[in-house]
Amino acid sequence: MKPEKSMSLKWNVFFQFIVFAAVVLVCLWIFQIVFLDSFYKQIKIHEIRKASETIEHNIDSEQLSELAVSIAREGNMCMAVYDASLNEVMSIDILPDCVIHKLPDYVIGEIYEKTGAGGGEHMEIFSREAFFDRSDMEDDDDDDFPQVIPRREGGMGASLIYARIVKDGSGGEYLVLLNSTISPVNATVNTLRTQLLIITAIMILLAFVLALIISKRIAKPIVKINESAKQLAQGDYDADFSVNGGEYREITELSNTLDHASRELSKVESLRRELIANVSHDLRTPLTLITGYGEMMRDIPGENTAENIQIIIDEASHLTELVNDVLDISRLQSGEQVFNIERFSLTEMIEEILTRYNRLVSRDGYTIDFERSENVFIDADETRMAQVIYNLMNNAVNYTGEDRRVRISQKVRGDRVRVEVTDTGAGIAEKDLPYIWDRYYKVDKTHKRGHIGTGLGLSIVKHIFEQHKARYGVESELGKGSTFWFELEAKGIKKI
Ligand code: ADP
Repeated sequence: MKPEKSMSLKWNVFFQFIVFAAVVLVCLWIFQIVFLDSFYKQIKIHEIRKASETIEHNIDSEQLSELAVSIAREGNMCMAVYDASLNEVMSIDILPDCVIHKLPDYVIGEIYEKTGAGGGEHMEIFSREAFFDRSDMEDDDDDDFPQVIPRREGGMGASLIYARIVKDGSGGEYLVLLNSTISPVNATVNTLRTQLLIITAIMILLAFVLALIISKRIAKPIVKINESAKQLAQGDYDADFSVNGGEYREITELSNTLDHASRELSKVESLRRELIANVSHDLRTPLTLITGYGEMMRDIPGENTAENIQIIIDEASHLTELVNDVLDISRLQSGEQVFNIERFSLTEMIEEILTRYNRLVSRDGYTIDFERSENVFIDADETRMAQVIYNLMNNAVNYTGEDRRVRISQKVRGDRVRVEVTDTGAGIAEKDLPYIWDRYYKVDKTHKRGHIGTGLGLSIVKHIFEQHKARYGVESELGKGSTFWFELEAKGIKKI
């Protein structure tokens, strides 16, 4: 990043606009003033050559003279046709400054010869004031137009004489002479120049004003967004990225993106704070208990009981669970966790977990039923699926109602197997339902020991479901209980 070396956007746009305007003006000047003469000349030469071709094609036509008159009028040119003995057979003299009608015979003879030598086509350019004095005229071969022999081009009102030898049907030769002025009229050129001067002045002024306005309008919102982004970088998540007007779609999009980014960052930030609060709370409680019970057993005789040791063990395992959950979620989220997909019996897995789990919770009067009528096989990561079942079951046991009952049911629907874990607890309010799968989300934010876990369980479960492309969800009614369910493709079904 070298901000001191790069030009600000505003000035950049400004200069580019000015350069553009300058290029346009220079082009206009070059074409209108510098090349005007030669453009005009080229066009005239083209016109006159075309006219001569038309005459050649119609040399035998009855309407030749009418055609010639109309060609001459249209092209603003004079015309003279001579036969082989240089007698004038047709003459159209419509221009006041025509040269061909003033040429002495010997010049016409010369032209005739040159035309013959030039392969039937010949061009000469005269300046009007010089054509009578031909003694100092020099031939000057022009490579582009071998037949063009400019005599004395300077000055305004140069005159082009074009000669062409044509043959009629009976083989008779004629010399067609065409004559046209090939320099634009002085007055026209002057008008153009004056106009161009005015246009240039207006253009320069306009370019400056427009460049200023445009560069300001583009730069302003970007400068504002930049300021807000700096605020955001310093941790101010309320930075305002909205830009007025929003004339430029890209700028509006940028502002929306940054707005979104700042909201996401602020979410991450509050999650981070919550995590620290939750984890430190969750760590502190078991640690306090462990230390407390440890000290009590050390200091007070008779307190060294099995129950107290059990409390220490329980708290330590709660800590382990918490640490494992945090590790799990970060591994799952970073995507480094590789799933080991194998075929196994989902039914048998649930039965096994249930046997182990029941032994733990039946002491406290909990009953967990498992309803199934098939032994279903699935393709999944067995350890991860066990984690899912354990999490759902654990939640259900933790949140179930007074009757302390939890029901797990496994149903086969077509080629899919659906597992439901139902409790009879307080249920989850509809407004909380979309969030319970989020990290650290706890419906009841106050920590009740024994009941509340890490807030990570369902988030881990969600990750695992998504990795297995399972369908999953929760149905819940306040006061009646909740049913957490998921569906996977059944790869093998055996009746029990
Ligand atoms: P925790 O470790 O806090 O249980 P979870 O991610 O497993 O975290 O669950 C998130 C939140 O969803 C819980 O704090 C709880 O409020 C709610 N919840 C989960 N399961 C149930 C259930 N069976 N009944 C009622 N609420 C539940």
